[in-house]
Amino acid sequence: MKTHFAPFTDLEDIEQAPCGTWLGESSELSGDWTKVDCRRCNKRKSSTTKAIAAEEHAIVGQMGDMAAFMRAQA
Ligand SMILES: [Zn+2]
Repeated sequence: MKTHFAPFTDLEDIEQAPCGTWLGESSELSGDWTKVDCRRCNKRKSSTTKAIAAEEHAIVGQMGDMAAFMRAQA
C-alpha cells in the first residue's frame, strides 16, 4: 500500500499519480505529505514545493504590477 501525493481535490478519475505511478486498488492519494509514503513522490517533493513557491511569487509580482498600473491610471 502506497500513498501518493496529489494536490488536487477531484481524484475520482485519476488513474496515474502525479509521480507517474499507475494507481491500483492498493494505492491512495493524499495532499498531506505526512501521509505520503511513495518514494517517487517524496523525491518530487522539493521540486514541487519550489514550483508552487515560484508560482506564488510570480502571482504576487503580477498583483504588484497591477496595483502600480491602477495607481498610474488614477
Ligand atoms: Zn507516488
